[in-house]
Amino acid sequence: MNRTTILSNLIAELESFPEIKLLDAKKDKERFSRDFFDYSPVLEQKLGGCIADLVVRPHSVKGAALVAGACKRNGVPLTLRGSGTGNYGQCVPLSGGIVMLMGNLNEIRDINISTGVVTVETGCLLGDLEKKLLSQGRQLRLLPSTWRSASIGGFVAGGSGGIGSVRWGFLRDPGNVLGMEIITVEDDPQILQLDEKASEAINHAYGTNGIISALTIATSPAVAWKEVAIDCGNWGEAVDLMQRCSRSAVELRLCSLLEKNILEKIPEWSGPSMGKHRLLLLVAPDGITTIQRLAESAEAHFTLLGSENLQSGTGLRELSWNHTTLHMRSSDRAWTYLQLLLPQPEIEAMNILKSRWGDDLLWHLESVSQQGMQRLAALPLVKWKGNDSLNELMNHCRDLGAVLFNPHVITVEDGGLGVIDSEQVKAKQLFDPEGILNPGKLKGWKK
Ligand SMILES: Cc1cc2nc3c(=O)[nH]c(=O)nc-3n(C[C@H](O)[C@H](O)[C@H](O)COP(=O)(O)OP(=O)(O)OC[C@H]3O[C@@H](n4cnc5c(N)ncnc54)[C@H](O)[C@@H]3O)c2cc1C
Repeated sequence: MNRTTILSNLIAELESFPEIKLLDAKKDKERFSRDFFDYSPVLEQKLGGCIADLVVRPHSVKGAALVAGACKRNGVPLTLRGSGTGNYGQCVPLSGGIVMLMGNLNEIRDINISTGVVTVETGCLLGDLEKKLLSQGRQLRLLPSTWRSASIGGFVAGGSGGIGSVRWGFLRDPGNVLGMEIITVEDDPQILQLDEKASEAINHAYGTNGIISALTIATSPAVAWKEVAIDCGNWGEAVDLMQRCSRSAVELRLCSLLEKNILEKIPEWSGPSMGKHRLLLLVAPDGITTIQRLAESAEAHFTLLGSENLQSGTGLRELSWNHTTLHMRSSDRAWTYLQLLLPQPEIEAMNILKSRWGDDLLWHLESVSQQGMQRLAALPLVKWKGNDSLNELMNHCRDLGAVLFNPHVITVEDGGLGVIDSEQVKAKQLFDPEGILNPGKLKGWKK
């Protein structure tokens, strides 16, 4: 049977289900086949032409399972989409087929009052979930800087960490994701409940090895965070202060450091640039005096900006993580970025890289907890000068001992530690044995 006939059969089957809305207009197919991969000029070249044959929006878990079964029986690729805010083309359908929008599966099923553990459907927006949790005295442990628009399922399947990582590490750290409900891709799909251990293989697998319909996650007690900016004239002293703040006994939600050239190009939500490097912190109220004392002992300029206002959209959250990249790209589209864990001592590696790359490499650091240790993650801004130059820079970082999470590649493995996770591949064998889900993104899958 040719591709057109297969698709017509599939569409006829899906049209008979009231639980599913079909979107066949060219503009919908184009819009829902993209994410923010244009942050990478490399991916832009590769993915610009990829387009779904059909977009579907199920209204229930049952509807999503009907789509999964129909795709499997007809051998049509199925790519899942939350809010489409990923940066690496995670939800771009490389081989066409169906893109399934998960946004209508958005019920918050349960918040356990005594433990704070929440069970929520995949498409629930993190902003909506956070609002609901705050009304119960809880908050999410980890949020991407796209927290207003991104979905919880897309964050777990495609993201890694962000606001909160200074304390809670990354989504794949034990204890953050406690369980999942998934739909298998079989002739007659099953809805399975996975415990914490079994969920690990689905976490950050780009929706290649199971359809997440709901997740159970840990939360933390709500804190009325205060926004603080600290300006330092010297980069080495700024890095040192950042480390002293994040290693202190003060509760932090965010601890970012921006090189002064970045501050001059992004919105002035943390105050006008003083021509210095700036630390941006979200601090628990009882930690303010300590952070002020640490700043003053480093002869840095401390500013208490006030309480975090989640309504505004102009808070420190929206200047951190990849939002820094977003603002820099608004000033000049030639900026792209890298993601790395710096080798220790960080300042030495940064100085070596700076002396070679000058102002084509601007430092943006985020303090993170990595397996219980405070480390510096870097999301440096990189001036695009072509593939060869980017590769030379990445090799330079690796040679110095940095761990690179390459944002210019499309597979789970190449964007991660570069190695195949056999548990992810085993999960695909179990839950998507014919390789229908998001083909081309799991390198370890050879079928
Ligand atoms: C400006 C900017 C800032 C960002 N900041 C951060 C940050 O701080 N931290 C961070 O981690 N990321 C960040 N990101 C990337 C992205 O926004 C987040 O990871 C976000 O949480 C993705 O959620 P989403 O709903 O948009 O997912 P999508 O982009 O829709 O999907 C992401 C992946 O998850 C898969 N998926 C979606 N739903 C399901 C499902 N139900 N089952 C299985 N797989 C599924 C998709 O197929 C895709 O592979 C940023 C991106 C931008 C553009």
